[in-house]
Amino acid sequence: MNQLSLLDYCIKCEARCCKTGEYIGSPILSEDEAKSIKSNLEEVVSPTGQKYWIITEKDRTNECSFLTEEKRCGIQNIKPLDCLCYPIKAVYEQGLVKFVVDSDCLGSEKLGDQFIENAKEIAIQSIMRFDPKTYQHWLDNNIGWVKKAEELKIKDIKKCFNEERLSYFLRKYGRKFDRKFLTEIGFLVANNLNLRIDESVKEITPREEGNVITAYCFRNTVLEDYHAEGVPINNRKMKTLMIEASTKMSKWLALRDVLKSNGDIELYNFILRVYEACFTKDWKK
Ligand code: SF4
Ligand code: SF4
Repeated sequence: MNQLSLLDYCIKCEARCCKTGEYIGSPILSEDEAKSIKSNLEEVVSPTGQKYWIITEKDRTNECSFLTEEKRCGIQNIKPLDCLCYPIKAVYEQGLVKFVVDSDCLGSEKLGDQFIENAKEIAIQSIMRFDPKTYQHWLDNNIGWVKKAEELKIKDIKKCFNEERLSYFLRKYGRKFDRKFLTEIGFLVANNLNLRIDESVKEITPREEGNVITAYCFRNTVLEDYHAEGVPINNRKMKTLMIEASTKMSKWLALRDVLKSNGDIELYNFILRVYEACFTKDWKK
């Protein structure tokens, strides 16, 4: 049962989305989720050899094992990503990532913009954990509603354009980078699908690129922890900090090299511009 903001509808609906069986099926779980949920799970190996887990049914009731008598999720704090984004799901279609919505959900007609943005972000996070064939294997065998789901209507043309780029990036480069990095970049773009990037300014100056790489290397690092906690930086901490920044820089440079060598300079510039718009807009250029 989705708790983001559909509660009014969920109360009337008695957890339709937590039913198992061919039509609704089970959420897809990663190994990390399986480890934290621990029980009532079935391990599945996809044709590519990647493992995923599904939740078993409760005593032939056609309900998820974790659905309580009160029709609430019994694992609220560790609810799978795939349940969190319902009724929206990301699917691969002809190599692109598209978002679909289950129109049988009572709340599906009333989803607010913020709900949709949050759900899309979670849906992207969910799909990125699995290779496309594994994800499709789960959809084909465990989720019926996607077959008749409607494509999520996206009114803004700019949004579609950016989504296509995100899809292209994930499809082409999804297996070349580690998950953490990919998630970070994927999130950045997915979170900013509405961002107005001035693409008439094609040239990216070395200074602009330097700004972005520097911001990337220091954001979400121990430096932010030291800063927040007012921790003085001794030699050991300084070294940790530099090694972390250097590791991050190597990832960014690898991204740049791979995209450029594949003729995807425009995509690289786009990612750079999104990062710039989010974090270094006011820096000297
Ligand atoms: S199907 Fe929709 S309305 Fe019904 S419980 Fe699930 S999220 Fe709520
Ligand atoms: S894990 Fe929770 S939200 Fe997901 S299907 Fe089961 S009861 Fe519903």
